[in-house]
Amino acid sequence: MKSFVLRFPNGKTKAMTFSYDDGIPADLRLIELMKKYGIKGTFNINTFHYENGNEPENRLKKSELKEIADNPLFEIACHGHTHPHYTFLPQSVVTDDIMTNRKEIEAITDKIIRGFAYPYGPYNEISEESIKAADIVYARTVKSTNDFFLPENWLQWHPTCHHKNSLELYDKFEAFNRAVSNPVVMYVWGHTYEFDNDNNWELIEELFKRCHKNHDIWFATNMEIYNYVKAFKSLVFSADGKTVHNPSRTDVFALLDGYWEPDSGTPILVPAGETVKLYD
Ligand SMILES: [Zn+2]
Repeated sequence: MKSFVLRFPNGKTKAMTFSYDDGIPADLRLIELMKKYGIKGTFNINTFHYENGNEPENRLKKSELKEIADNPLFEIACHGHTHPHYTFLPQSVVTDDIMTNRKEIEAITDKIIRGFAYPYGPYNEISEESIKAADIVYARTVKSTNDFFLPENWLQWHPTCHHKNSLELYDKFEAFNRAVSNPVVMYVWGHTYEFDNDNNWELIEELFKRCHKNHDIWFATNMEIYNYVKAFKSLVFSADGKTVHNPSRTDVFALLDGYWEPDSGTPILVPAGETVKLYD
């Protein structure tokens, strides 16, 4: 019997993702830095600003949102139409706020949008039910875990850390043994106005400088991580576990024998749509 453990694209053990809230003009400065270093990330947008054809100065323009959404480095996701505290509202109002937000962002970007970050961070059973009803597949909280696990519940995706702690956490992440069984994700969140308020844009550039050189890391948007894990979980095995079929349209990688001898093997590829004999 051999174990079969998820590896990210090209057999990588580590992934990194970023998530920034509220859709403000300072996001464009972060986006330029991300383009410079090839870093991927997700930008979470409120839509009430754009009501009645408005495009306020202190928010990204609709044309900018469209341009960001069209760039494969980035994802645009929901953050509530009016940015309310969902835990203080009835279910119908929460569901309406999420659905309105989703429809408006889809109209602006011409993309299917299924990612979400909770406004202010809190969530409860009601908001989770509303998220499901709106067919949102992942939702980020603001509870920093200071660790690197994939979420158990995608509707409570707790980030690793706020960017202010990201350099210390990155040192830990980089030092993480490559031979670990489970794959690891470093998830950083924040608001770009904080870089202006704290006068520390150099902090995030320092992080990008360090991490972009690390070829063990898969850089992905939040949704790309969700979609990849979902494709991995859709794999179908024979009863003896020796043959695997990938019914998805995504190539997936796994480490065979990853549990007992984690560094013993090269990750194997299970191509999209194909069936692979793993061992005799
Ligand atoms: Zn916010």
